[in-house]
Amino acid sequence: MDALLVSPGSDLRYLTGYDAKPLERLTCLVLPSSGTPVLIAPHLERAAAVASGIEQLGVEIVTWQETQDPYALTATLVSGGVVALDNHMWAEKVLALAEAMPGVEQRLAGPVLRELRMRKTPQEVEALREAGAAIDRVHTRMGEWLRAGRTEREVGADIADAILAEGHATVDFVIVGSGPNGASPHHEVSDRVIEAGDTVVVDIGGTTPAGYCSDCTRNYVVGGTPDAEYAAYFAVLREAQQAQCEHARAGVTAESVDAVGRQVIADAGYGELFIHRTGHGIGLETHEEPYVVEGNDLVLEAGMAFSIEPGIYLEGRHGARIEDIVVCTADGVERLNLTTRDVVALP
Ligand code: ZN
Ligand code: ZN
Repeated sequence: MDALLVSPGSDLRYLTGYDAKPLERLTCLVLPSSGTPVLIAPHLERAAAVASGIEQLGVEIVTWQETQDPYALTATLVSGGVVALDNHMWAEKVLALAEAMPGVEQRLAGPVLRELRMRKTPQEVEALREAGAAIDRVHTRMGEWLRAGRTEREVGADIADAILAEGHATVDFVIVGSGPNGASPHHEVSDRVIEAGDTVVVDIGGTTPAGYCSDCTRNYVVGGTPDAEYAAYFAVLREAQQAQCEHARAGVTAESVDAVGRQVIADAGYGELFIHRTGHGIGLETHEEPYVVEGNDLVLEAGMAFSIEPGIYLEGRHGARIEDIVVCTADGVERLNLTTRDVVALP
């Protein structure tokens, strides 16, 4: 590849620290295989780019005026026949770059950048640790909001406030899956009124001011006790998640972590009800590489961070999922979520 072209998003933030606004106007880091990297930016964004400190990294800022063609300007900075674009670049920018550089082959930059982003530095691990502690504090306070007679939406709004109050800059998602809604893994909130005896899946996450994400699922029962079948499969789920956390370490494959938990769940007769992969990497994005899924034979290394979140879902009745973020160490994992993984009974 002769150059990476990186538009606003987590790749740009990762490489330069510049958390640029994604706009219709082109901002693009041109990182040639040799030579000086250049940030193309609209003139009106210059101050924000300078404030990010990007120039201290040796990146030259070149701005364009409102009536200039930023794609033609970008093309003048690229020599060679192959450029790689960040995976999330908007289609309108991809096509405009192609038009400005006829004959230049476009590829995805993901395969290059993931090699960097998957392996967290000690500073990134510390940032993820802080994010984990922040979301743990929200789970610890769940009894303040989650009770029978309230809707999922009302509870979710209070949780969102707490996600911010406990140290996040943004709320990324709030899932309050009560009763049968717990059987839908990506249910968010609804106007369903939570009933006494309901089990509730609460999966929440946000992004800290440092840019790193949290993501943690815990299970609650409100004003009663769960039915016998729930208790039976929850015990299996708990065992599966524990087995996966004990198995994961540097040197084993990502897919083997999935298999270890899936085996426990299948052996107990619930294999058909574990309907998603085990987990996803996490960092500047909630979902990034490595994915913990059958078919991913990536060998885990120290510093890789990902979720371990098996689930069992009984459609129409209830469901459960236990999710921790973990970081691989040489001889195991460090869990970044430390609240109890048992079902928490609330009054
Ligand atoms: Zn997750
Ligand atoms: Zn989650």
